[in-house]
Amino acid sequence: MNNQYELSTKCLIIGGGPAGSTLARKLSKNSIENILVEKNLNYDKPCGGGVKSIVFEEFDLPKEFENKKINICKLHSPKYSVKVDISNTPISIVLRQEFDKKNRELAKEAGTILIEGRYKKAEKTGNYYLVKIETKNKTLIIKTEYLIGADGVKSSVRKDLFNSTVNAILTNYCNIPNKDIDFCEFYFGKNYAPNEYAWVFPHGNKLSIGAGLKEGTNAKKLFPIFKKKIIKNDETKVNGFFIPIWEKDDIFFKNNVFLLGDAAGQVLPFTYEGIYYAIKSADILANAIIKEDPYFYEKEWNKKFRKRFDFFKTMQKIFLSFDFMTNKLIKFFQNKKLQRRGLAYWEGTAKPLTSGQAALKLFKYLFKN
Ligand SMILES: Cc1cc2nc3c(=O)[nH]c(=O)nc-3n(C[C@H](O)[C@H](O)[C@H](O)COP(=O)(O)OP(=O)(O)OC[C@H]3O[C@@H](n4cnc5c(N)ncnc54)[C@H](O)[C@@H]3O)c2cc1C
Repeated sequence: MNNQYELSTKCLIIGGGPAGSTLARKLSKNSIENILVEKNLNYDKPCGGGVKSIVFEEFDLPKEFENKKINICKLHSPKYSVKVDISNTPISIVLRQEFDKKNRELAKEAGTILIEGRYKKAEKTGNYYLVKIETKNKTLIIKTEYLIGADGVKSSVRKDLFNSTVNAILTNYCNIPNKDIDFCEFYFGKNYAPNEYAWVFPHGNKLSIGAGLKEGTNAKKLFPIFKKKIIKNDETKVNGFFIPIWEKDDIFFKNNVFLLGDAAGQVLPFTYEGIYYAIKSADILANAIIKEDPYFYEKEWNKKFRKRFDFFKTMQKIFLSFDFMTNKLIKFFQNKKLQRRGLAYWEGTAKPLTSGQAALKLFKYLFKN
C-alpha cells in the first residue's frame, strides 16, 4: 500500500455484528468519528438468538427487536428433567438478520459511516493504520488511528495483525420450519452432547436446534439422533459453525488494534452466551476510547467479568465432564432454593466463587446428600 487513502477516521470497526454496531453507536453518540465495515449487510448470523432481555433497557434498544420473550427453560440430564421459571431474568429471542441490521441502522442514525465491504489487510504507518477494504465496486484504503476487529470467531483482523486464531468449538445447527414453542430447552450429558449441551429454541416460526460437538467424543454421530427426537422425518440441512471458547488473558489491545466480541473470545463459558457479552464488552471498549485510555478496556473488562467467566468455566468442567455430575446439576435445579442460587450466579446478582470455594461447597453438598 502506498500512502494514498480515500477516507480517514479515528476508529475503523471491522464487523457489523452486535459488538461492532454497539461500539459504533456509542462512539458516534459521544462525537467520536468512526467507520463501520460489514462484509454483508444482509448477513443472517447462524445463532440461537437468545439474549438476556435486560439488554433492551441497558442499551436503549427498541422493543421491536425482540421476536419472543422466554420465561421458562426446560433442563434435561440423562436421568432428570426440570422446568425453571426465569421470569426474574427472562431471555429474549432475536432474529439475527433483522437484529444486526437494526443495530447497524442505530449506529448510522447516530453518525457512524456504514460501508459494505470486506477487510483485506492493514499496514501500520507511523501513528496510524492504512486499511484495505474491498467493496463490490472498488478497493478502498482507509486511514485510521484505532482499528477494531469485531469480525467474529474467524476474525481476519486477529489473524492478520496478531497471527492468532480464536479457540472455538464446532456446533451443529439447523432451523426447522413451521414449528413454534414458547420455552427454551437444554439437553446436557452424553446422550446428545457429551461435555456440552444440545438446545431447542424458538426462532420466529421455526425451531432452532443445535449442539456443541466436543472434540474426541461421538457428538457428531449423536446430533441426527437428537434431531430425530425433536422432530421426525425432517430433511432440513444441518451445518457446522464455531462458537468461541473463552480463554483467560486473551488479546484485548496492542499497537492501537482492539479485538472485541467473538474475535476476542468473549463468550460466557458453559452457557455460550455471546450476544450479551459482545454488547457489554463493546460498551466498555467505547468508554476506553472516549477516555483516551486504551488499557481501561482490559482492566474494566476483567473487573466486571473475569471472575464470572472463570466461575462458569469451572462449573462447566465440574458439571459437564461426567454424567454423574450432570445428573446432580439437574437435581440441584429441582431444589427451589438451590435453583434460585444457581440463577443468581447466571443473573450476576451473586458473587462468583473461586474454583476452590466452588469445589468446597460442592463437596459439602455431595457429602450431605
Ligand atoms: C450456532 C450458534 C448458536 C448461537 N446461539 C447463541 C445464542 O442463542 N445466544 C447468544 O448469546 N450467543 C449465541 N451464539 C454466539 C453468538 O452468535 C456470538 O457470540 C455473537 O454473535 C458475537 O457477536 P460479534 O459481534 O462479536 O460477532 P458476529 O455476530 O459474528 O459479527 C461479526 C460480523 O463481522 C462480519 N465480518 C466477518 N469478517 C469480516 C471481514 N473480513 N470484513 C468485514 N466484516 C466481516 C460478519 O459478517 C459479522 O456480521 C451462537 C453461535 C452459534 C455459532
